[in-house]
Amino acid sequence: MVTEIECSNCGGKMLRGFIFDRGHYEHKEQQVWVEGEPERSFWSGVKTRDRNAFSVDAYRCSDCGRLEFYTTEQADI
Ligand SMILES: [Zn+2]
Repeated sequence: MVTEIECSNCGGKMLRGFIFDRGHYEHKEQQVWVEGEPERSFWSGVKTRDRNAFSVDAYRCSDCGRLEFYTTEQADI
């Protein structure tokens, strides 16, 4: 896990957070980074089977609002 990050834009303190998706029935999920090119499936949107995937952590600068994304924990998809 990345803990202390300085903003590369203004040097301010970056606060840890995440971006979520609203899925079916307002079920909220953290976004996931998936390795490779997106390949569309008629039935399920984009294919994710057997792909390398990580949860996306988003850090927000408390001074200028800049967002930076990091991936540390492998995700089950
Ligand atoms: Zn900043």
